[in-house]
Amino acid sequence: MKLKERPAAAIKLVGGRLCLDFVNAIGGRRPASPSEKGDKEDYSVREDKLTDYGDLLAWSQHAGLLTEGEARKLFRESWQRQTEAASVFARAIELREAIYRIFKALLNKSLPRQSDLERLNQELTMAYGRVRLAAGEENFVWEWTDTKNSLDRMHWLIADSAAEFLTSGDLTRLRECSGEDCGWLFEDTSKNRSRQWCDMRDCGNLAKVRRFRTRLHADAP
Ligand SMILES: [Zn+2]
Repeated sequence: MKLKERPAAAIKLVGGRLCLDFVNAIGGRRPASPSEKGDKEDYSVREDKLTDYGDLLAWSQHAGLLTEGEARKLFRESWQRQTEAASVFARAIELREAIYRIFKALLNKSLPRQSDLERLNQELTMAYGRVRLAAGEENFVWEWTDTKNSLDRMHWLIADSAAEFLTSGDLTRLRECSGEDCGWLFEDTSKNRSRQWCDMRDCGNLAKVRRFRTRLHADAP
């Protein structure tokens, strides 16, 4: 299957920021059932759309982090470096969930877990180890170095996006979709700060149908 045809390349990008779109690269998140809980998380991922390194590439191309040519090249590269690609993929999922839990903690007005911050910091250290200053036309600009064969280059941009939101974004605009078992995050940039849904056509519409049904039942004799 072509990268572009994978389900990961059809995920809606409605988070408003790269790091939030990455958090949303799943069907949804729901509270864990008692049997799932154990010593694990208090939520579980529903329909993970990222199942291997190819999916990560497909999503990265879809989100504009890689051109089609770059994605194809890295895909070929990943076949030569399968162990590395598997570990890059595992790191991506850890990063995604760490970013989710950090933002979720902020939404709950609590402090993020140290281990999640550590995860993000590790990726940032790797990312910022690859930037350098270069002379641009008017000002100097940041450039990524060593991008050609790095299987994990999407991590740098995602981690950087999360750091940017955390350090200079308006975190009071961070929201979680109100849809059942959705859990998608987004930045509410609406003027009156009233955005409630990841997408009005999905979760918003579903809620409307549910309200309508409830009313029908209430009205029934
Ligand atoms: Zn939603």
